Amino acid sequence: MNSRESERRDMRDISLGERILLATRFGEFQLQHVSADGKSGIALASNLDSSECYVRVQSSCLFSESLASIDCDCADQLTRAIELIGVRGGCLVYTFEEGRGAGLEAKIRAIGLQQRWGIDTVAAYRELGMPPDLRNYDFAALVLRHITADRPVVLLTNNPAKVRELAARGINISRREPLVAVDSPMRKRYLEEKSKILGHLITEDARE
Ligand SMILES: [Zn+2]
Repeated sequence: MNSRESERRDMRDISLGERILLATRFGEFQLQHVSADGKSGIALASNLDSSECYVRVQSSCLFSESLASIDCDCADQLTRAIELIGVRGGCLVYTFEEGRGAGLEAKIRAIGLQQRWGIDTVAAYRELGMPPDLRNYDFAALVLRHITADRPVVLLTNNPAKVRELAARGINISRREPLVAVDSPMRKRYLEEKSKILGHLITEDARE
């Protein structure tokens, strides 16, 4: 199968739900449920015709987004991304992949190991017999290709792997823009772990 056939098949396989309006404190967005290959998520778009199309790909984090956890910076990054997309135009692809794709139960077990043994997230996942990140970007790339119609995008991320993986799946990334999150000393260890072990580009003003 050549790449054009592959793209046609991908577009046919994606299932797009009804488009509704969602009013947020950062303005009004268009929201759509998206699913493909057993995965599902939300596409949240605003002003897609703007000169630069800002894109964020993020997976769910129940604890920080809904339960006010301060152990990680997922909720801050999500809020900042929605704010930027609301101002500049673009799309958020939000996927339901807790614990980097391992699921909520495994995520809780990994946190339990971290708390009991003082190990980091990657070591905890290894202890559970799992790789540190089970996600891949096939689903996000498929949704983005549909929503952005292959226009060049500015990717909001501090994670170089995300840039590489989405570009390898045909997303036209004109540049990367880091996401600045609210600083919190309690997240220092988590952010250092992301930087040292997972290779994220975390500086004084760019955290993920
Ligand atoms: Zn999180």
